[in-house]
Amino acid sequence: MYSNLSNIINDINTILLPRLCFGCNALLYRGEEHICTVCRNQLPLTDYNFNAENQVDRIFYGRINIIKASAFLFFTEKGIVKNLVHFLKYKNQEQIGSFLGNWYGQLIKENNFLIDLDYVIPVPLHPAKLRKRGYNQVALFARAIAEHLNAEYMDHFLIKTANTRTQTKKTRLLRSQNTQAIYVLTDTYTLVNKNVLLLDDVITTGATMEACATALSQTPGIRLYLASMAVVP
Ligand SMILES: [Zn+2]
Repeated sequence: MYSNLSNIINDINTILLPRLCFGCNALLYRGEEHICTVCRNQLPLTDYNFNAENQVDRIFYGRINIIKASAFLFFTEKGIVKNLVHFLKYKNQEQIGSFLGNWYGQLIKENNFLIDLDYVIPVPLHPAKLRKRGYNQVALFARAIAEHLNAEYMDHFLIKTANTRTQTKKTRLLRSQNTQAIYVLTDTYTLVNKNVLLLDDVITTGATMEACATALSQTPGIRLYLASMAVVP
């Protein structure tokens, strides 16, 4: 009864509340989903692929042993991508992850990159953070990409054990010295000799990806690819 009622309220809200573009806040027309046509055409795609060298690769040179890194979009201080990530992470708009993952997954597939991919793994959240947010903002992005590439989505091989949520109260300097999160591999057997794609939301310094990739590379014969929704240029 209760869930029926809340479904009805949701339906009424969908009718009464105008749907807005997550990129620019404009009213969405019928047929437009998540973002308006203008934002869709203006999305700053990197056009990086998994063959040629790119800026994301260079972030990780000499730091970790990976096959290739890439990113879907450029992240800028203002604009569509920043707004999308903000709604995805802080405003319960989990479905933005599917929207981006479907788009990016299709692109990767069309270009015949990562054809032998076995597993797609999202950068994990600490359990306390996961409870608070209710979802991992990378999960639906990763699931959509896994589906397009015929790979298996796997979110329990890699876990985060250190909680860094108190960092926001520290100064900028302390914070930058303290971003060493602890990521632990729970299964060292399944990933042996597998092709694995690790995904995150935004790559800035690459510290998070580096920590996760370091944990994953303990697996013998693993071939590791990294990618994100966006990269800070
Ligand atoms: Zn828009």
